[in-house]
Amino acid sequence: MVSTMPTATEETVASTTLPILSHWIDGRPVEVLPEQTGPIWNPATGQVIARVPRGGADEVAKATASAKAAFPAWRDTPLIARSEIFFAFRELVWQHREEMAALITRDHGKTYPDALGEVLRGLETIEFACGLPSQLAGLMTPNVATGVDAFTLRGPLGVVAAITPFNFPAMVPMWIYPIALMCGNTVILKPSSHTPGATQLQAELWTEAGGPDGTFNIVYGGREAVKAIVEHPDIKAIQFVGSTVVGRYVFEEGTKHGKRVGSYTSAKNAMIVLPDADMELTADAAVASGYGSAGERCMAQTLLIAVGDTADRLRPLMLERIAGLKVGPGMEKGMDMGPIYTKEHRESVIGWIDKGEAEGAELVVDGRPFVHPTNPEGFFLGVSLFDHVTPDMEIYQEEIFGPVLGIVRAATYDEALGLINSHKYANGTAIFTTDGGAARRFKLEVDVPMIGVNVPIPVPAGYLSFGGAKESAIGDLAMRGEDGVRFFTQQKMVTERWPEPGRRPGLSLVFPGNS
Ligand code: NAD
Repeated sequence: MVSTMPTATEETVASTTLPILSHWIDGRPVEVLPEQTGPIWNPATGQVIARVPRGGADEVAKATASAKAAFPAWRDTPLIARSEIFFAFRELVWQHREEMAALITRDHGKTYPDALGEVLRGLETIEFACGLPSQLAGLMTPNVATGVDAFTLRGPLGVVAAITPFNFPAMVPMWIYPIALMCGNTVILKPSSHTPGATQLQAELWTEAGGPDGTFNIVYGGREAVKAIVEHPDIKAIQFVGSTVVGRYVFEEGTKHGKRVGSYTSAKNAMIVLPDADMELTADAAVASGYGSAGERCMAQTLLIAVGDTADRLRPLMLERIAGLKVGPGMEKGMDMGPIYTKEHRESVIGWIDKGEAEGAELVVDGRPFVHPTNPEGFFLGVSLFDHVTPDMEIYQEEIFGPVLGIVRAATYDEALGLINSHKYANGTAIFTTDGGAARRFKLEVDVPMIGVNVPIPVPAGYLSFGGAKESAIGDLAMRGEDGVRFFTQQKMVTERWPEPGRRPGLSLVFPGNS
């Protein structure tokens, strides 16, 4: 039924042998010429597999016009009718979860079970959106003055945008647009051009579920499309997820143009391991968190701060597990880790490993020489482990976003906590211990909003908000959950009187009081 590629016409495809994706505007694909497109690679083979449009100001203007035209009717659609569309959408995403996961693996490289996990975590927010009517209720207070009632209501903002990264092509958009839509906004999604297949499928399924034309639009592109979104006067709000450098630009320029903006950005997460921790569980957690999805997760714990003698006990257990990891194409059964998403990013990660060595960290496991035996052109890299990483090193300070884990040694809990609290990034963190009192202190004392206790990737449940602090988030509110609803709605405060015979207040120039 739903086909994700090709979506352009025969003529446009004729001059290239590759399928071409289309922007999705006004409920349908938009024809694109091959010269207006760029390549998409399958990172497991290193081959170009399709082409994706490079949109700019024109496409953003068309999508915004469509979203603006669709807005009044969508805003006025009864909440339960919107909810019914969301229930249908939820069913379709569920039915297509395996197809969506396969598209993610094809474009991104992560293993198929990992991609399926991402789709299911995205689905949680669609399910949250299905039940959103109760969260949109206002407060009513009768008789705040004689014959006067007061109440609040939450209304949508209008046309809003989501700008999303390559690493979660289903889950991250699904953390944004379902809440925006269910609150009554119309949406423009500008996904990463590196991993577009799963995003295209989401638009097709929204239309199939009965989502009205123009409510959900997709514009592909890079810098030009983002600039056009940030500057467009009819776009009222933007949620951005990606690197801090781009997120800061979107926040600063977007707010300068009068928009509400939330930017959820880069990370360098650290887990503390106390000497009383369950070392087998901790070793599993550290290796899974550091190398899952080739380290291309904003919640990966890429620093392990080992307290006391912990590092010497943990390191051999981690090495045992690392030795058993299988690196290969994400669609092959039994793989633990796929390739890096692009050739350029692979080079960047190798550059960071070179730097770590030059800075004096001990390179215990070197992933650089790894070449996949049957896919030598794929963008594969083995996993790397550093020990004796120190806070003055750039590999400690900066996000690498690859399969590189660093062990830092700290003498005490207080020293370890101080390291986390003085880092410029603050997205996720974790503590591994069997001491409930130490865990309690950590939850209260750590300056990082998303905290795991013996859980290495503490992505909050779908009905809760998600967001970091410091250089990991720019803006006031988090994504999803209660904060997502507040972000995508305008609260109105109404004070109301219905004239009744004999109860007119009469003329008075005194500032209205509450009598
Ligand atoms: P990115 O910043 O390169 O891209 C994000 C979005 O911005 C994409 O849609 C991209 O097309 C666009 N973009 C890229 N360069 C641009 C430019 N110069 N001008 C305007 N727009 C531009 O990020 P990425 O590489 O796709 O994703 C990885 C980053 O995202 C990592 O830093 C990771 O930590 C972060 N991330 C954060 C979260 C979070 O919730 N905090 C979640 C996932 C990923």
